[in-house]
Amino acid sequence: MEKQAWVGERIVRGYMCKVDWDHELGSALGGNRIYPSAKNCIEDRGCINECGMVEVEVRLRRVVRRGRFDSPKQSGKPRTKPRR
Ligand SMILES: [Zn+2]
Repeated sequence: MEKQAWVGERIVRGYMCKVDWDHELGSALGGNRIYPSAKNCIEDRGCINECGMVEVEVRLRRVVRRGRFDSPKQSGKPRTKPRR
């Protein structure tokens, strides 16, 4: 199995609707949106005055499936083994 030493090293901060966080994240089919800034979340959602907003952190646990655009540069670390 390919070593994935970079797992957990990169953490991205984001912002999302608090109701999505409280009730939807992890169960909503189609997923939930996480925004790069509080301003972007407020402007795009239109529900933040009612729902509230939370700041979250996202980190990689594992690569489930590699895509054809996947490269060592995009994953942030060099590969430890050649691609199969
Ligand atoms: Zn909302």
